[in-house]
Order: sequence, then structure tokens, then C-alpha cells
Amino acid sequence: MNLKRVLVVIIGIICHFGTSAQKSQDAWCGTTELDKINKSRDPNYEIFRNAQDRAVLNGSYDLKTGGLIQIPVVVHVIYRLDAQNISDEQIQSQIDALNKDYRANNWDTMLVPSVWKHLIADCEIEFVLANRDVNGKIHSGITRTQTSVVDICKLGGDVYYNSIKGGHDIWDRNSYLNFWVCELEGSLYGFSTLPGAAKESDGIVIDWESFGTIGTAKYPSDKGRTCTHEVGHWLNLKHIFGTSVCGDDMVPDTPLQEKENYGCPSFPKISSMCGNGPDGDMFMNYMDYTQDKCMYMFTKGQKTRMLSTLLGARASLASSKGYNGVNSVVRPSFSIGPNPANLALIVNSDQAEEINTIRLFSISGQEVYSSAGRIPKDSHSIDLRDVDNGIYILGISTPSGTYSEKIIVQHD
Ligand SMILES: [Zn+2]
Repeated sequence: MNLKRVLVVIIGIICHFGTSAQKSQDAWCGTTELDKINKSRDPNYEIFRNAQDRAVLNGSYDLKTGGLIQIPVVVHVIYRLDAQNISDEQIQSQIDALNKDYRANNWDTMLVPSVWKHLIADCEIEFVLANRDVNGKIHSGITRTQTSVVDICKLGGDVYYNSIKGGHDIWDRNSYLNFWVCELEGSLYGFSTLPGAAKESDGIVIDWESFGTIGTAKYPSDKGRTCTHEVGHWLNLKHIFGTSVCGDDMVPDTPLQEKENYGCPSFPKISSMCGNGPDGDMFMNYMDYTQDKCMYMFTKGQKTRMLSTLLGARASLASSKGYNGVNSVVRPSFSIGPNPANLALIVNSDQAEEINTIRLFSISGQEVYSSAGRIPKDSHSIDLRDVDNGIYILGISTPSGTYSEKIIVQHD
């Protein structure tokens, strides 16, 4: 074998392993696989699922009666190593991220290409840690279980939701959205049951390094969007790419796309096989496989499908006893980003809401920017070139109150 041939073989081997490593690294959602397993276990499951799809397509639910729905959440932390016993703050950061994404309050909606901006949905769904357990007793909405079982959260396994085997029993799925946070095998970040699954396991499993936005959350799944994606499944959304080439997600306002997208594509990314030009794939949709920082929208059609679930298979959540109190997220009429920010921070204001002042403070309270007296009507840019790296508080004062948000300044 001459040298050139040897090189070709070596490069071939590198490319082969390179590709499979990349593929397995990015195939991070196990929901389709779990769906297949559940179908093989229970013939009635598939019958129920098909009936649900027909009901949504037939418009069987009166969505006008919906309004804002608040879902009580319980998080079961199951840890083998101390580091996996994630903090209360990290858990709250995930709840906060879900609330931003499901109310379209996330700053990065401003990155949605203009052709799809009119499709961005405020899903009118909010999440709150339960403050009552299944017996009506006051509770934090967080359970913690130490285990010695390796691979406790195996996809299709039955240990994580079984207290006797070392996991933690589900809290009644009719009153709570159950998360199990634990160590997932291989490249998986998370998986969810779809409506109709067995009542003992009906919830979402997320890897301890893909939950929340602080602490152990690790790039590229460090913006809480594994949960946003999996909750979409739990509310009956399919992947935007369907289950076959140019597959259908049964949502009318999402384009067909040839297959899943990984990483962070550039717009437009056209699937010529499905004829989806000139705009191409909606790869920034939460139900694709892109990185956390590159997914930032649900469509109105996806909202319809999720609300149908909350009026159908998961209707009992509306009368859950898992949470007492009012904790509605105030939806500001402006978006702020990017966050982290480098050269500039942009505040986009709704025409309806007037802004009096925008101020930026360091964590020690020192004002580093004030806009007083010069607020343009709809978009305002704050020059950050002379602001040091660090954490800051942005305060926006409006006639109806003051809104503040934590901003990270990070110069490249
Ligand atoms: Zn998925």
C-alpha cells in the first residue's frame, strides 16, 4: 500500500468516527424511542394517541375558553454523586426559563427571521413549583433521593419512577408535571412521555447537566431548552421534522423539513427535497434538535396543539391542588437582548408601552448607564463597549411600573 493510499484510509477512518461521534453527540432527545417502546408494550396506547390526533385536527376543543394555564411542577432529583444533587436555585432557573419560553418573553424571539415573526406564540402556559404535595401538605415541590443505582434513568427502564427500586414514585400526573433529574446514559439530554402513557411513568426525565441555566447546566444545553422541548412533547407536540423524510408534525404553520437540524444553522436553510424554499427549515423552533442558544420559538399552530392537550388529555391540571396562590408571570411589553451581551444591548419596546428611563447597574449598585430623556419610540441600543465584563441589573421604568432583569456583559 503506497503512502497516498494509507493516508486516504486513515482520513476515511477519521471521517467515519468523526461523523458517528457528532451524530451520537447531537441526537439528544429520546422521546421518539420511548414512544416506540410504549407502543410495543400497550396496544391501547397507540389507539389513544391516534384518537387524540384526530380530535386536534377536527378542532374538537374550544380554545377560547382556555386562557392562562398554570401547571404545578414537582422536580424529583435523583443523585448518585453529590454534584448531581442540584441546588434549589438551579431548579428555579429552569422554571424561570420555561416561563420565558412559554410566554414568548425570551429575549431571543428578536432573532426569529422576519418571515416568521407573525407566527411567534405566547402559549399562555406557566409553570410553578408545587407548594402542596399529594396529601395537601405544604411542600417545596422538590424531592431529593440518593441512590447507588448506576444508570437509574435508563430510557424505557422502570427504576427512576419506583421508590422501592431506588428512584422516586410519581406524584399524581393529573395534578403535577413530574420531572426526574438524574444521570442519563450516553448522549441523551432528556426524554418525555406523550399523553396516553402509563400513569406510573408519565413525566419528563432530564440529565443533571441539561437542567436549568446555572450550576451544573453545561453547554450546549445550558439555556433550559431541553425542558422547553420535552414539555412540548409532554403536551403532545411532535418533532418539527416528523418521523420520516419530509415528515409531518401535524401542525399547519410549521414548514415541512427533510430531517432534523443540529448545531446552529444559518437562515435560510432550505430542504429542496420538501420544496420548502425560499424560507426553508424553521430550525429555530424548540421542536428541532438545534442547540439551546439557537432555538427560540413555538408557533401559533403548536400552541393550538398544546392547549388542546390541556383541554383534553391533561385537562385535570387546571383544577390541580398542587399549588395555592397567584404567581402569574408579568409579561413585559419589551424584549431585551442579547444576554450575555458583548458590544451592545438592545431593548425593543412594544408601541403600546412607554419607557421613561433605562438604567444599568453593577451588582454593587453603581450606575453604569442611564438613558434618561432620550428614549426612542420602539428600539433602544445601549453601548457596552466601555462596560467591564460582569453581571449587571437592567432597570426599565414605565408608567405602569419598573421591570428589572439580570444582564451578563461578556466581551469576546
Ligand atoms: Zn424531542
